[in-house]
Amino acid sequence: MRSRLRIRIDLRRLILMLAVFSALVMLVNGFQAAYQVQRELLIQGTLDANEAYAAKLAATTDNYLRQAQRQLAYGAAALASATQAADTARIATEVERLHQQADMFNTVSFIDARGTVRMASPARLSLRGQRLESRGALEALEKRAPLISEPYTSVLGNLVVQMSHPVETGEGRYLGYVAGTIYLREHNVLNQLLEDHYYRDGSYVYVVDRTRHLLYHPDGARVGTQAGRSEVIDEVLGGGSGQRHVVSARGVDMLAGYAPMPTVGWGIVAQRPTAVTLDRLDALMLDVLRRSVWPAAVALILVWLAARLISEPLGGLARIAREMDSPEAFGQIEGVRSWYFEAAQLKRAMLAGIGLLQLRMGRLRRDAQTDPMTGLLNRRGLELEVETWLALGREFSVVVIDIDHFKQVNDRYGHDVGDQVIVGVARLMRQQLREGDVACRLGGEEFLMLFPGLAAEDALKGADRLREAIAAADLGLPGRVTISGGVAAWPRDNEDFVQVLKAADRALYLAKASGRNRVMEAGAESVGRVAAG
Ligand code: GH3
Ligand code: MG
Ligand code: MG
Repeated sequence: MRSRLRIRIDLRRLILMLAVFSALVMLVNGFQAAYQVQRELLIQGTLDANEAYAAKLAATTDNYLRQAQRQLAYGAAALASATQAADTARIATEVERLHQQADMFNTVSFIDARGTVRMASPARLSLRGQRLESRGALEALEKRAPLISEPYTSVLGNLVVQMSHPVETGEGRYLGYVAGTIYLREHNVLNQLLEDHYYRDGSYVYVVDRTRHLLYHPDGARVGTQAGRSEVIDEVLGGGSGQRHVVSARGVDMLAGYAPMPTVGWGIVAQRPTAVTLDRLDALMLDVLRRSVWPAAVALILVWLAARLISEPLGGLARIAREMDSPEAFGQIEGVRSWYFEAAQLKRAMLAGIGLLQLRMGRLRRDAQTDPMTGLLNRRGLELEVETWLALGREFSVVVIDIDHFKQVNDRYGHDVGDQVIVGVARLMRQQLREGDVACRLGGEEFLMLFPGLAAEDALKGADRLREAIAAADLGLPGRVTISGGVAAWPRDNEDFVQVLKAADRALYLAKASGRNRVMEAGAESVGRVAAG
């Protein structure tokens, strides 16, 4: 069944399809590889940038807070001496200085050992004289050490982080503490340091304290709340820095960098949405695609041309192969431009094949028209020759010949000797022929010759010379062999060719009847135009 299917696809299309297919595979592959590489580069780049960024912010902020602590320590010493001197004005100046000069805290206050505010800045808050019982206040009184509190709600209702330092005399008597607060929900030192770095594309920075409370976050509502489970926070609070792929509290895939602040034990995290990072990738890949369209189109055209060039010789040879027996086939094959090895080989093979084919056909044709025993034309060969001569309008004479008493030769010496005689007569006949004459064995021991351009009387002379030669020849018999012949010319009166042949036959019959070993001309019997031995 399969072989019945007609194959419609040709070599040109095959090459083209193969080229397009491999180009597509390579393009898709390359594209995918480029995409992966670019994607990883972008992600890694963002992670690195965020880590470096978090580290830098952490270092700056930590340094800033350490300075703040030192300022409080220095202030605490000044406040101790002013308190010992009961110099209220100096106390006020010192508190004011701590607030205004350093500009690190939203409020600065001096609280005595019982927890009552002795002095506060800004003064408008009317904190002075109040007894504080907030967490930060209680912790500072209790621990009597430099502290940074967890976020808590102050007596004024603000969410704050308090940084404090004990105020002690040179002898170590505890006088209270000096405290600076950072209002987490208002403009503060962290905002100042970090807010410039908020991106509109969804990148942000946040700060957590050691109890996982968010001290700084672009989403104000989350400031002061405790962060949920997060490996990044675990690591940064453990003092580690690094980078990580994370999912934010809102479920956004993020690329985070983080670094700790060793002085205060806080951690800072800078992160950017992965999707934002990869947005550039689409544009990048589109650019890659745009750049590869032209080369691809050019390559396709080149492949198409090459496919044509490659298929052309094969197509040409295939077309010619369908009519290999036509006489033009050889020339046509030679005309095919076989510019590459396989086509050249095919062409050479076809030329050799066609040469052989024509040789065989010629031999077959010759065999079909030749009498194998004598090598003369057979009846078929004669017919073709006569047809041609008649078509060409040639004039010629016909001579029919028959060996005399041949039956006796067979009877006396056997059939094989008879055959030798036939072959011998044929050989003599061939020797007598001029260029262009035709001799043929009609069958048995009967022959026919055509003499082109000869009138009957000249043909008669020619035939008679042959008769004489045969009669004189030694054909391997004790006695001599003779022939009789009849001659007729074409054209002859209004007769057709068959009638001319019959006339020659009649002349032969008459020659036999007149005693054999003679040649007679048709129609001339009565006037005795005869050649006889
Ligand atoms: P005639 O003089 O009247 O021609 O007498 P003939 O004996 O030759 O008579 P005819 O031509 O009729 O005889 C032909 C004989 O030739 C008959 C047959 O035995 C013999 N013959 C025909 N073909 C061959 C052949 O191929 N080889 C041999 N050896 N003999 C053949
Ligand atoms: Mg005969
Ligand atoms: Mg005979």
